[in-house]
Amino acid sequence: MSSQIHHIHQQLMNKDISCTALVQEKLDLLKQNTNNTVNTLLDTLALDLAAKVDAKIANGETIGLLEGIPFGIKDVYMVQGTYTTASSDLLKNYKSAYTATAIQKLLDAGAIPLVKENCDSFGHGSSSENTIFGAVKNAINPDLVGGGSSGGSAVNVAKDYTVFSIGGDTGGSVRQPAGYNNVYGLKPTYGRISRYGLMAYASSTDCVGPIAKSIEDIRIVLNIMSGKDTKDQTTYASADISQEVISSSENIKTVGYFKNFIETDAIDADIKSDFLATIEKIKAKGIEVKALDFFESETLVSTYYTLAMAETASNLSRLDGTNYGNRIEGDNLKETYSVTRSENFSEESKRRIVGGNQVLSQGFSDEIYLKGLNLRDNISENFEKDFEEVDIIISPVTPSTPPKIGDSLKDPHAMYLSDAYTVGFSLGQLPTLTVPQGTATGLQITAAKHNDELVLKFANFLKDTI
Ligand code: GLN
Repeated sequence: MSSQIHHIHQQLMNKDISCTALVQEKLDLLKQNTNNTVNTLLDTLALDLAAKVDAKIANGETIGLLEGIPFGIKDVYMVQGTYTTASSDLLKNYKSAYTATAIQKLLDAGAIPLVKENCDSFGHGSSSENTIFGAVKNAINPDLVGGGSSGGSAVNVAKDYTVFSIGGDTGGSVRQPAGYNNVYGLKPTYGRISRYGLMAYASSTDCVGPIAKSIEDIRIVLNIMSGKDTKDQTTYASADISQEVISSSENIKTVGYFKNFIETDAIDADIKSDFLATIEKIKAKGIEVKALDFFESETLVSTYYTLAMAETASNLSRLDGTNYGNRIEGDNLKETYSVTRSENFSEESKRRIVGGNQVLSQGFSDEIYLKGLNLRDNISENFEKDFEEVDIIISPVTPSTPPKIGDSLKDPHAMYLSDAYTVGFSLGQLPTLTVPQGTATGLQITAAKHNDELVLKFANFLKDTI
């Protein structure tokens, strides 16, 4: 699919449509939708902004490329004055006091926010069922999950309720729902986009990530949101990625894939054969394809969950009902903390808080947490060596197709294992894009750190190759 942003921009400039009509149409679709993608509709704000865009056009003023383009926001981003619930009971009445940097940049460019989108509570999950707003239903088959944790965002894009949406990816939460709903989803290099105003899950891997229906729209939105931010010391300055540069695939000579991701009983037979067929098509274009060694999936998943749980236990400790959240009074302060957190966090979030505090506690931290940190270093070194040999690594997004609604809640361990192919790239902090091609749940394209441009370039090449 070609760029919707360019297309709508032209329509607005040519006065083929009014921004108000466009926004109203999307708001109506969101309001009526039965996929449970909406936590809060930002209708008043969106219609006000649309009227301003229409006034500018009527005045003969030129508008920027993103001006008037409707988008969605995962409900873990601060947008001043709007509810930011993280799909949780704890924050269901919480209103943001400020706006996240990434979102502010989109607003400054004139994009129009329509909706705070349903997701797994605090990003905890792989199905968007861990939410107080009802399970998100898959865009292609509503009996299946929407994927997670940015499920509402991926479904909204897939259904054309939003032109693009901003998800958050800690261990796959943009890439996996993008794959489950056949759209593009990018986890940029860690630090390329500021995390300021994104509710922290695991700070060392949290990334802001765009979801859209074309590579070009991903590129446009990525460029706007990227850049150094004094409010997030892990950010770095990056050059804009140009449309011309990513339209040719020269420089890509060698592609790798992880043998053990494919040679395992855990992968669905069709995903495996489709992936291998993709490899053959890439080879047929004269690109060398190398099978690489990598860590076992179990090691990746346990390292990721050890670190992610430790970080979320620490990050969520501030949510005790005093400064934020629904406070439930107990007999004394300790009791108040306890009952507030016990009653307001979901089962899944509590599992992670308890697990995280366990791996950080005296007597366990050396054995478990520090070992996890060590493994993460080994994983990063492994990637560095790989990228001396290959330009790009491709992998399936998930070992299986989306589960039926209800199944993941019954078996959290199986849900954690479904993240086998996404979490490694998060631990490596590498740029990784899901493209809706190659297998039933798409393909991931990964490059070395800071090489987001090469990822988009290869995605363009794949679009014409498979
Ligand atoms: N499914 C993974 C988890 O639950 C990833 C979630 C995310 O990226 N926010 O941790």
